[in-house]
Amino acid sequence: MKGLLATIAELHNSPEPNFVLPSASCLIQARECLIQTLPEIGLGVPKVTKHLMEEIAPGFNASSRSSNYYGFVTGGSTEAATLADNLVTAYDQNVQVHLPKETIATEVEDRALSLLCELLKLDPAQWQHRTFTTGATASNIIGLACGREYVIAEAAATRNSFNVSVGQVGLFEAMHQAGLDEIQILTTVPHSSISKAASLVGLGRASVKIVGMEGSPHKFDMSLLEKNLQVPGTASIIAISCGEVNSGQFATSGMDEMRQMRKLCDTYGAWIHVDGAFGILGRTLDTANYAEITRGCEGMELVDSITGDGHKLLNVPYDCGFFLSRHKDLAQNVFQNPNAAYLNAGPAGDTILSPLNIGIENSRRFRALPVYATLTAYGSAGYREMLKRQINLARSIASFVLSSSDYELLPQLSKPTEEVLATIYIIVLFGAKDEELNKNLVQMINATSKVYVSGTAWNGKPACRFAVSNWKVEVARDLSLIKNVLESVAQEWKASKTKF
Ligand SMILES: *Cc1c(COP(=O)(O)O)cnc(C)c1O
Repeated sequence: MKGLLATIAELHNSPEPNFVLPSASCLIQARECLIQTLPEIGLGVPKVTKHLMEEIAPGFNASSRSSNYYGFVTGGSTEAATLADNLVTAYDQNVQVHLPKETIATEVEDRALSLLCELLKLDPAQWQHRTFTTGATASNIIGLACGREYVIAEAAATRNSFNVSVGQVGLFEAMHQAGLDEIQILTTVPHSSISKAASLVGLGRASVKIVGMEGSPHKFDMSLLEKNLQVPGTASIIAISCGEVNSGQFATSGMDEMRQMRKLCDTYGAWIHVDGAFGILGRTLDTANYAEITRGCEGMELVDSITGDGHKLLNVPYDCGFFLSRHKDLAQNVFQNPNAAYLNAGPAGDTILSPLNIGIENSRRFRALPVYATLTAYGSAGYREMLKRQINLARSIASFVLSSSDYELLPQLSKPTEEVLATIYIIVLFGAKDEELNKNLVQMINATSKVYVSGTAWNGKPACRFAVSNWKVEVARDLSLIKNVLESVAQEWKASKTKF
């Protein structure tokens, strides 16, 4: 029998699966095959290989393997990234301490991060606190932890109290020394993980405050923002959704606004964190046809920290996120392993920091290698082309929805079609005009087993969402399938209404 690795390689090269969800019976069967208790005598590798491939894997969905999976923003895995990821497992490097005489792993990680900065048009020299994480949630936790460290130290400095560190003395003592009663996170439409991160770093979910514009909730109301920054005894972290997950909309709209925000934050000692899990890749685009998106990503070089995801639009396997900050000195205040001299960095002049002192984990997977491989395999032009293809598919879906008498695009904008389409990034939010169909829409689309979409809500009503995030999408091929599915669902619904 073939080994597992050969089977995996074959799987990767096999044609795309048509059916993205396992049938109910596949799931039941896979569930029934699960080994119930730990065997005293192991089954052995050949038996387990067969068990995994023939009994368990049929119960998986094809979320990364099929470009017709549009649920959530899952991404896929490029060929280069997939190969590298298998190498990561085979070599099992622990990328926690920078040991340049023993392994090149930390140097690969740092280089991958610097290539990533280049992809995002950020100067690697400016973003020296950089690390790979398990995902955007972990990066948001790091961002808020660094922000907390910074804003408290800034507030303390205004009272001539220097080097106050939450990492050292804890939140209560540090706030006391800084004369602060409160830390708030000012944002517009944040991802849920911002609240989770706020809870984890001791600020609390209630510290997340919305300062969105009336009528354009994704955008910052700058005067409301300034009013909040001025509150005495309160320090602030601003969290920008550079690409909001439900709608794909960007929270800021260009360089002027970013300069203004930077100036306000410098005046009031605030920190700007950007959650750019998938939106930050918009910086790879050129302006022609994508001006609305590039504007939403403009000025990110002025912020303090940035969250990004590898396992979304970068199309590397789970789990991979990244974090970038311009405050190298803060990193070790927050994340150091104290009194562990043997964990310290390499020789003098070496600028690479040991990952365990600048991020959450100590022992870590070598998740940098797939990023290094995929960036070098396809280059910035390759990534730009992949992203354009994904945006163009999303816009084609949106255009079809706009022209359809059965469906409506959300949010409903009273603008000319061209302008509406120009705001579409990779997410298409829509619903059915018929309210009853709308309630059943996600289920009916997914029941076709041709494409998969996820359900959400918009203005208190159920809504449906295409999230295009797979490097393999092809506009003409995938649009025709999607059109067929949406048209047949609407027809099926109408037919069922006329029957009695
Ligand atoms: C997906 C997403 C997250 C969470 O990312 P994980 O990788 O699942 O931790 C955070 N913020 C935004 C904007 C996202 O799209």
